[in-house]
Amino acid sequence: MSRERVTILGSTGSIGVSTLAVLARQTDRFEVHALTAHANVERLAEQCLEHRPAIAVMVDREAAAALRDLLARAGSATTVLVGEEALVDAARAPEVDVVMAAIVGAAGLLPTLAAAHAGKRLLLANKESLVMSGALLMDAVTRSGAKLLPVDSEHNAIFQCLPTGYICGEPVHPHGAERILLTASGGPFRERPLDRFDDITPDEACAHPNWDMGRKISVDSATMMNKGLEVIEACWLFALEPDAIQVVLHPQSIVHSMVTYADGSVLAQMGNPDMRTPIAHSLAWPGRIASGVAPLDLVKAGRLEFLPPSRERFPCLDLAYRALSAGGTATTILNAANEIAVQAFLDERIRFPAIARLIDASLSAVPVQSADSLDGILAADAEAREYARDWVTAQANA
Ligand code: NAD
Ligand code: MG
Repeated sequence: MSRERVTILGSTGSIGVSTLAVLARQTDRFEVHALTAHANVERLAEQCLEHRPAIAVMVDREAAAALRDLLARAGSATTVLVGEEALVDAARAPEVDVVMAAIVGAAGLLPTLAAAHAGKRLLLANKESLVMSGALLMDAVTRSGAKLLPVDSEHNAIFQCLPTGYICGEPVHPHGAERILLTASGGPFRERPLDRFDDITPDEACAHPNWDMGRKISVDSATMMNKGLEVIEACWLFALEPDAIQVVLHPQSIVHSMVTYADGSVLAQMGNPDMRTPIAHSLAWPGRIASGVAPLDLVKAGRLEFLPPSRERFPCLDLAYRALSAGGTATTILNAANEIAVQAFLDERIRFPAIARLIDASLSAVPVQSADSLDGILAADAEAREYARDWVTAQANA
């Protein structure tokens, strides 16, 4: 049997590295076709030497030149390509079977859409592309016959709790499912006194108690905007109305989400908090492969708790619901404002509580349009970023 060829968009990130760790155990079944990154030359070079992809893509021009140099000196046969168009080509190349979409943020949209249009098996970690452009992405998947598999641990858990034969994008109700319980750890500030939120540092926000992730999603987890983005993601993946989704705090991160059925059954997927599990599931579905994750020891875990999230502590959650009910490009605006706000916080230009204020202001200021064309989505994204950047500058000068 010929091996399945895989492109990893964002191979140098947290999800990319975990994906390569799973693939390294499965070399009989998969081969790496393309690895892509923004600018991390050293890590991409190491990955190319170990996994020998046909193609490596660097978005940054200088980084691409440095990578080409390093690989040539090491005698590598990998071809180095450069720029955003090369990312799109790596996602839609005819020889590729599987695309792991693991770029962070809006930069992942175009290559993810390209993989969907090309009918690939699309492993979706880049939730921002669904938040920005859910209708277009789901439409591309349906038209091309692409297989969309959720990598985000909660959505992967929900998918695993739905009946065999369920395809992402179909309504879940005809399968007897009624509601989704989306679990959230509550992040590092679940118990921090609210009067100490002003002093939160980037490193504190990135120190997640259970998961080891990239810095942007770590801050999203600390504000709980991550859960807001995930509610939007779940609405698209499982064709649900927002009120069929309940967010539940579960500090242990063992139950990754649940589905409740018409007969009162509740199915949960459990496991250690390690992204190699949903990655391996999405690679092998409908089969199963080893991921390298340690077996779950429930006796050691001891207690599993479930609590309501505090809206006062986590205003970003309500902002996500507000954008969802506004519809159109409101979630595109939400995502863009959040990306600018998180970066400004990481750069120490705004304080942690200002992240929510900036998103709130952007949702109020930037007009919502219909979200049925890519040009419209990109225009809304650009307008919201411009508004948010000006807001940050005004705040810094105040
Ligand atoms: P990360 O910051 O660790 O890695 C991001 C990757 O994207 C890197 O390879 C980087 O080179 C690439 N990248 C960044 N900017 C780019 C640009 N402008 N153009 C091209 N490539 C660019 O991020 P991560 O934690 O691996 O998260 C990746 C995605 O997966 C995010 O959408 C995140 O929400 C989602 N996700 C991550 C986790 C996790 O555990 N890390 C869990 C669920 C979902
Ligand atoms: Mg998640």
